[in-house]
Amino acid sequence: MFVAYDQLNERIGALRGAEPGGTGVVLVESPWKAGRRPYHKQKLALVLASLRHFAIELAQRGFAVRHVVHDGPYRDALAPLARELGPLTVMEPAERELREDLAPLVRDGALRVVPHDGWLTTADQFRRHRRTPPWRMAAYYELVRRETGILMEPDGEPAGGRFSFDTENREPWRGEPPAAQPPRFRPDAITTEVAELVEQRFGDHPGRLDPGALPASRSQVDRLWAWARESCLQHFGPFEDAMSVRSTTLFHTRISALLHLHRLLPRDVIADVLAMDELPLQSREGFVRQVLGWREFVRHVHRETDGLRDLPGGAKPNVLGADRPLPPAFWGAPSGLHCLDEVVRNVWEEGYGHHITRLMVLANLATLLDVDPRELTDWFWAAYTDAFDWVVEPNVLGMGTFAVGPLFTTKPYVSGAAYLDRMSDYCGQCAFHPKRDCPITPLYWAFLARHADRLRDNPRLAMPMRSLARRAPTARERDARIHARVAELLAAGERVTPDALAE
Ligand SMILES: Cc1cc2nc3c(=O)[nH]c(=O)nc-3n(C[C@H](O)[C@H](O)[C@H](O)COP(=O)(O)OP(=O)(O)OC[C@H]3O[C@@H](n4cnc5c(N)ncnc54)[C@H](O)[C@@H]3O)c2cc1C
Repeated sequence: MFVAYDQLNERIGALRGAEPGGTGVVLVESPWKAGRRPYHKQKLALVLASLRHFAIELAQRGFAVRHVVHDGPYRDALAPLARELGPLTVMEPAERELREDLAPLVRDGALRVVPHDGWLTTADQFRRHRRTPPWRMAAYYELVRRETGILMEPDGEPAGGRFSFDTENREPWRGEPPAAQPPRFRPDAITTEVAELVEQRFGDHPGRLDPGALPASRSQVDRLWAWARESCLQHFGPFEDAMSVRSTTLFHTRISALLHLHRLLPRDVIADVLAMDELPLQSREGFVRQVLGWREFVRHVHRETDGLRDLPGGAKPNVLGADRPLPPAFWGAPSGLHCLDEVVRNVWEEGYGHHITRLMVLANLATLLDVDPRELTDWFWAAYTDAFDWVVEPNVLGMGTFAVGPLFTTKPYVSGAAYLDRMSDYCGQCAFHPKRDCPITPLYWAFLARHADRLRDNPRLAMPMRSLARRAPTARERDARIHARVAELLAAGERVTPDALAE
């Protein structure tokens, strides 16, 4: 059988229940795939170190492992092996890119596809939450909660009387309780070798490679998840939306890449969390909503729309017509906006950032600046260790930028400086003051004004649109001027400063 780079678990797919003695496993390392985008070096190291550790774990259990390095598409690596060994079985790939790559072999019968049983929900469940778009996570999540019985009372009511405690997950963090400190790992010989290989072969890729932050061996993966359970989940719910210069993690679990690679199984993490009776319901439900809800939901959306290429009415995934290039600030040129600079610096340091920094800093600013959503998606894909097509495309094109309109989210998630100031401590170190002169607020009003025709009837934007209507014409002219000036400065790779915006 062939086990893909993101199927690294012996309890799923064709490996589930396979007897070591009678089973051969093909694993493929593809420098070609690694070089297709400027992937963060930490991501390349994580994927490769995980693959190599998994190969050794399987071999130690007695599986005959054929570890192939091939510098080209996966189909070219597998075709000769299928001729030599006979048809190979593969669990259906999660990534569209890999499905496309392997399609000719599937057609020829060289590859036999078995269903992906690492997911928690089915396409049928997704289709039953709403037969036609727009799709809605809340309705889907409710259906799945009812059908799985997860966090449900015997009388059929959701635990705590509500399906979502989202409204209680919005506390800012001011330093207490202390933020969870992610564990450090001692790199073993395999991880060290992988780190050297990545530095040598992909030294021109961006990002810092930090082998001590890589949970690559089985015991390191288990230690990360134990840390998440012990140190993060207690406070996960209330501070889910908080952001701080003092911690990139706060109380988030950092497990996304391990879930996607299947080094951790979603069903295991859900079961573990449900067994933690001591956790406040708001944290338990918050976590379940992310893994059983959002993670599965975006995957279904991606699958149903052929990776958002096949949208209702033939629409293109850029309904707001955003067409400006991504500013150099996303690649590390200082922008002068402390929130942006801090989050970008963190991403290139760690390949990680939690949900709200991605949504309300990076995607927010890119959306306010009319950045081409495809270019932004490709940046996210390169920058984060947990980015794979099925998860990054819907998150950026749907949730992050509203590029697919209300297909599966209700509104653009944009904000001015007041939200950032309330939920973070970034503004304290910025040259701008959030109430007096931060350009993000005029950028926000200018965005609403530019897209008023499309957004006016959106019930979730009724309040800001009313405020926009009351905004004086001189203020609106100034908003537009600041938007143009900030976009111009950032496009040129220059800093936005109070002087540069002085009128
Ligand atoms: C613009 C944008 C781009 C994003 N790109 C990615 C991406 O490339 N890869 C990725 O895994 N997530 C992405 N997300 C979703 C989310 O930000 C990350 O899953 C999360 O921050 C991962 O960190 P964590 O493991 O500490 O998560 P936690 O906050 O601890 O949450 C637990 C788990 O829930 C799951 N989850 C939560 N939200 C989502 C979501 N919206 N979609 C899918 N899974 C979710 C993840 O598996 C995560 O590990 C993106 C979000 C936005 C707004």
